[in-house]
Amino acid sequence: MQNDIKATHQKEAVEALKRVVKHPSSATDPAPDAPFGQPIRDALDEMMQICDELGFKTYTDPDGNYGYAEVGEGEEIFGILGHVDVVPAGDTADWSHDPFELVVENGVAYGRGVQDDKGPSIAALYAVKALMDAGVTFKERIRFIFGTDEETLWRGIAVYQQKEDPITHGIAPDSEFPVTYAEKGLQQSYFVGPGSTEFSLKMQHAFNAVPAKAQYNGPKLAEVKAALDDFGFDYETDENGITVTGKSVHAMLAPNGTNAVLRLAMALDQVFPDGPLGLIGRCFKEDATGTNLMGDVADEASGHLTINISNIEVSPEETRMQVDMRIPVTVDHDELIEKMTKKVAEYGYRYEDFDYLAPLYVPKDSELVEKLMTVYREVTGDDTEPQVSGGATYARTMNQCVAFGAMLPGVPDYMHQVDEQWELEKMFTAMDIYAAAIKAIVGD
Ligand SMILES: [Zn+2]
Repeated sequence: MQNDIKATHQKEAVEALKRVVKHPSSATDPAPDAPFGQPIRDALDEMMQICDELGFKTYTDPDGNYGYAEVGEGEEIFGILGHVDVVPAGDTADWSHDPFELVVENGVAYGRGVQDDKGPSIAALYAVKALMDAGVTFKERIRFIFGTDEETLWRGIAVYQQKEDPITHGIAPDSEFPVTYAEKGLQQSYFVGPGSTEFSLKMQHAFNAVPAKAQYNGPKLAEVKAALDDFGFDYETDENGITVTGKSVHAMLAPNGTNAVLRLAMALDQVFPDGPLGLIGRCFKEDATGTNLMGDVADEASGHLTINISNIEVSPEETRMQVDMRIPVTVDHDELIEKMTKKVAEYGYRYEDFDYLAPLYVPKDSELVEKLMTVYREVTGDDTEPQVSGGATYARTMNQCVAFGAMLPGVPDYMHQVDEQWELEKMFTAMDIYAAAIKAIVGD
């Protein structure tokens, strides 16, 4: 009988996942009451409808920034943070299935969002549903909070923070098991300095990846090649000039990559020594730990700082460098920025803030982390230690909140990728972990 009930919840979870996956909820132009586009609003409404059907009390922000669903009584709130938006599917022809039509094949569910973050949200939701059906009562309110633009600028969850009750503690099922108890501070910014009339650079790279290519087709091409040769840097030549080549990795792993833009800038600084790239050529070089700029910045809780300069544009008016920095959790942000601002000023640059996400740090010996780890080990028998990450989840937006699952160790990472998929057995194990953890923390 118990197994029948379990099988029913599993089946219902997959059906619910199908309903939310069908909305292609990546950010588009705003529509009325849909600040990040109608598909995201539709996905939010669908999720809230599911919660409503399961017996949760629901509230949807009328402006469409967030929604929440609640069960249980009490002053305190155990928050479970998810998001209904997804990254775009890209060219759907590259997918083996329609990304917005959940297909289960050989026990694997395919669809955009099944790993990030529709699948994990649904797994946690049906874990709570299983507890409700088993007659478990809760000494706190369990509140699912759904954000709407996690893949872009986190404006939806910011409106939640302004308007709604803070949580007492909680989890974000939007990462990996076991627990991520530290996420580095994430600072994106610009260094802006003098331009050049001798040469120009134009490119368009994202903040969060180490660029593998950098093109140059301007004056003194032969000299630039010679400088690259002197450094021993790789490049290709064709009718478009020079393309310096490197190795792309996520910005949080910048020291493991090879940054083609920095290598080109170092060569250009050799050829145009009175130009604007001395900051790179004579100071920063290609050290993605930022030591040349700020000294050795690290802590025991979360390791070394990383920094990625992914884009450098040079025009006659200005030079603009795009900077992504992951700051260890116990390091003072303002002091660090002050130090950096002084250093870049020596090379004629000013510091310009773009976006900052404060770090997450809930110590390993805190009650929350210890309870989650105990349950995780009991259910899985796996003794992986709590994790530190340079990545960012909603957990960092709230009090006493950590990322917890839903990917088990060894599960291939399909987040943001073509053919996003999740093995259902793994999803069901995640449901078991969530049910046991939530019962241990908020069960009466
Ligand atoms: Zn996510």
